[in-house]
Amino acid sequence: MTEPANFFVPGPTWVRPEILQELARPMIGHRSPEFRDLFHAINMHLKTLFATRQSTFVVTSSGTGVMQAALENCVARRVLVTTCGAFSERWYAIAESLGLEVDRLDAGWGRAVDPDDLADHLARHSRAHYDAVTITHNETSTGVTNDVAALAAVVREEAPDALVLVDAVSSLGGIPMAFDDWRLDVCLASAQKAIALPPGITVVAMSDAAIERAKKHPYRGTYFDLVTYKQKADDDGVPSTPSIPHFYALAAQLDHIINVEGLEARYERHRRMREITHARTGRYAKLAADPAHASATVSALTPSMAPDAIRKAMKQRGYTLGGGYGEWKDTTFRIGHMGDIPIADLEAMLDALDEVTRA
Ligand SMILES: *Cc1c(COP(=O)(O)O)cnc(C)c1O
Repeated sequence: MTEPANFFVPGPTWVRPEILQELARPMIGHRSPEFRDLFHAINMHLKTLFATRQSTFVVTSSGTGVMQAALENCVARRVLVTTCGAFSERWYAIAESLGLEVDRLDAGWGRAVDPDDLADHLARHSRAHYDAVTITHNETSTGVTNDVAALAAVVREEAPDALVLVDAVSSLGGIPMAFDDWRLDVCLASAQKAIALPPGITVVAMSDAAIERAKKHPYRGTYFDLVTYKQKADDDGVPSTPSIPHFYALAAQLDHIINVEGLEARYERHRRMREITHARTGRYAKLAADPAHASATVSALTPSMAPDAIRKAMKQRGYTLGGGYGEWKDTTFRIGHMGDIPIADLEAMLDALDEVTRA
């Protein structure tokens, strides 16, 4: 009998015991046929998960490393960063640290980026003004999901030369993604959020256009050269020694997500977790984000009592919840309802939260 999930942090998330077992397998060489077979199976599944026929690969790094890589590979000069919370602001910090020219379109914490605002901003510049625009699919600090399809469509219309770089860290595997249909260029997701693996790797989809753009940049570095990742992945290989245990775990987890649970059922379970969380916390907490854009994977809540006291009382009952983040650190707490958490375990946690907030 599996222990119920008791870890409701919005990353890293609760990992199924079967998946933890996968990490304990004996090593294989990363140039061996066994590894190629393993990576081939992973890439087939990644194409399904991202909904793409273009390149997919895996980088042994947390998501932030690949955010940096996306900017280093795809932006020669100027980038527009859309922001609505701490993780979308990270794109800005990285771009600045790389010495890029960076503009920011800020929706404000708790709100979604408005496609009309993006269109207005882009319309003021020439089609080639920006090399890229960054979008954060799911803003984990506030619990807001941006409409990537609409935002990417605006970029295609108003700034056709700009590449669309998407952070799908806390959405991929919990919220629908359509890389090709939405015409995205780079999309990345760390493993430790809705994909529900231990942290340490990041999955990536990259368009042919982004590869061509990257090839024009002579100094892409070595470790994070995404052109090399793509070329190696075409032959089910990797540039350097990856975290092989993660590859076993990722293959097993993608098979579970796609063939056992099924993508549609998984997205529906996440939507239900959002609805249940909203309905059952309303007595003692307000949703901190704009309800029209509330995330299916994480809820930031402003409770009527001290958030820290709630988290402490829950900890005594064996439950770990997420703290507030950045600007919202002292006023909110967060419930991560993403990954493999069973509905019944979410309900059990909310029962405990109900008692704690009545005490
Ligand atoms: C967690 C998170 C990140 C950072 O990912 P790391 O894997 O910790 O580097 C970036 N963006 C979003 C939306 C996140 O939720």
